[in-house]
Amino acid sequence: MSQSLQDEYIKKESLFGAKNYAPLSVVLDRGEGAHLWDVDGNKYLDMVSAYSAVSHGHSHPELVKTIQEQANKLAITSRAFYTEPFGGFLEELSKSTGFENILTMNTGAEAVETAIKAARRWGYHTKGIKEDMAEIIVADGNFHGRTTTIVGFSSEKSYKDGFGPFSGGFIEAKYCWSECGMDESIKSFESKINKNTCAILIEPIQGEAGIRVPEEGWLRKIRDLCTDNNVLLILDEIQSGLGRTGKLFAYEHDNIKPDGLILGKALGGAMLPISAFLSSKEVMNHFNAGSHGSTFGGNPLATKVASRALQLLHEDNLIENSAVLGEYFKSRLQSIDNKIIKDVRGKGLWIGMELNESEVNAKDLCLMLLNEGLLCKETHKTVIRFAPPLMISKDDLDWAIKKITKVIRAT
Ligand SMILES: *Cc1c(COP(=O)(O)O)cnc(C)c1O
Repeated sequence: MSQSLQDEYIKKESLFGAKNYAPLSVVLDRGEGAHLWDVDGNKYLDMVSAYSAVSHGHSHPELVKTIQEQANKLAITSRAFYTEPFGGFLEELSKSTGFENILTMNTGAEAVETAIKAARRWGYHTKGIKEDMAEIIVADGNFHGRTTTIVGFSSEKSYKDGFGPFSGGFIEAKYCWSECGMDESIKSFESKINKNTCAILIEPIQGEAGIRVPEEGWLRKIRDLCTDNNVLLILDEIQSGLGRTGKLFAYEHDNIKPDGLILGKALGGAMLPISAFLSSKEVMNHFNAGSHGSTFGGNPLATKVASRALQLLHEDNLIENSAVLGEYFKSRLQSIDNKIIKDVRGKGLWIGMELNESEVNAKDLCLMLLNEGLLCKETHKTVIRFAPPLMISKDDLDWAIKKITKVIRAT
């Protein structure tokens, strides 16, 4: 029955669903911790974690309990009223991050849109930029979501092809990556700054682009550039944040602080979507009633779960686990000696393995790993991203390393 049952679900999805994804041929049914099971009961180790949204592990018992209790009590109210979970969440997130004010949304893209709005209002009302002239500098290779405004400043053709016209006000500079060294990248950003620049919006490590880790010290130079020019530094840590890189936020590796921070993904404790834009009162006070909103943003169910998820990040030692096991995992992957591997890089439990294109296709390797019980996904044809839940055990990781080594040797 096995394959036929799975085929039936797969057929249904492709018959009735839009084809904006190309999933691996496995139909998932159940998750627990770092593991997932398909509808036939086959067990897999999750190395995707829903693109880093599953840091706490699947169906964390504490979060299941929290969501059940809150769902029984009060789930959705809109922001026309006050609720107890919302205030509690804001306080919890502000205290644990040091940002004064928070605006909650649901998906990552919405929080990015919120950051764009905040930066522009600050630009007009505080910096004194002339109406409709504000510019935001972004990096090549960026990924900030899928709304038309956001894909409009993507450098990835497939994200924007046929979706124009796009909104203006975004200028692209060179990320510090590959042949673009630190000095050239900083010069590129510097040359795009003018009196209309309100913000630089970047990912401290580019996830979707293939776990691109910039040279050490780059982010600090970007920070200085922003400070010297009265420009807001806004970091998109939707994927890199909340322990994924082995620190609460990736910017901590560089000992800096951004003016605005965008969170999402793991913020919802692998239970539901919730995202947020965090900043100072000076920036956030430009939002007044009626200027921005979301029906579901800040709802009691999501904020109750997110509060508990934030506590569990520390109670479950997820950040340290990410740092320690991430370093171990990376060094073990780097020690696999094989001509198909071009580079292994990353921070914490967020590792990109770049393959030599001429030797093997990343998607094919993911299919081979799937056959061994490992769920992985390629990004941009040549990179496999390994991002297990942050609660993964060393034993499970060792098992994964054994399987990865076996599959690479078999190519
Ligand atoms: C996933 C992601 C987003 C978009 O989040 P959605 O919840 O899919 O809208 C934005 N920025 C980064 C860095 C991401 O990884």
